[in-house]
Amino acid sequence: MAEGLIITGVLSKEELSRLPGMPSEERLKEGAVVVIECAEEIPCNPCESACRQGAIMIGENINAIPALTGDLCTACGLCIAACPGQAIFIVDMTYSDTEAVVQLPYEFLPLPGRGATVKCLNRQGEVVSSGRVVKVVNPKSYDRTPVVWVAVPKELAMEVRAIRL
Ligand code: SF4
Ligand code: SF4
Repeated sequence: MAEGLIITGVLSKEELSRLPGMPSEERLKEGAVVVIECAEEIPCNPCESACRQGAIMIGENINAIPALTGDLCTACGLCIAACPGQAIFIVDMTYSDTEAVVQLPYEFLPLPGRGATVKCLNRQGEVVSSGRVVKVVNPKSYDRTPVVWVAVPKELAMEVRAIRL
């Protein structure tokens, strides 16, 4: 079956694996780290400006796809809120033996509360599991883009990219 950004509008696993914004398997095993699922060469760079650690590089060509230096990422979350394309997430594979935490932008109201059970959607918008909200972060520095932390089955950490109440 044909898949991929041009055919379906959704990045295939192979396309994702080639992106310079994806952390390495080794970095994912070390703890929370950003995942940048941005593949279109568009004039955009607020993610680079938001990162005080210098972990995101676009450079002089503003159309370049953002590249991640995973070792510099402290998982502060600022780039999630700064991205107008909602293409940035944080994944923590070390949350527990069975669960990972995915941090994702959520701009709908009402916001879910801590402990709420939510539906977890993949990149195609399909419900793939339920998840548990462990935190909702919405400081002024996030400029009205709240970030929801949701615990999901570990094997779905690189699939879940949205929630629904
Ligand atoms: S989470 Fe923070 S440290 Fe990591 S890339 Fe984003 S802005 Fe930089
Ligand atoms: S801010 Fe978002 S859409 Fe813009 S380049 Fe960065 S990751 Fe891509």
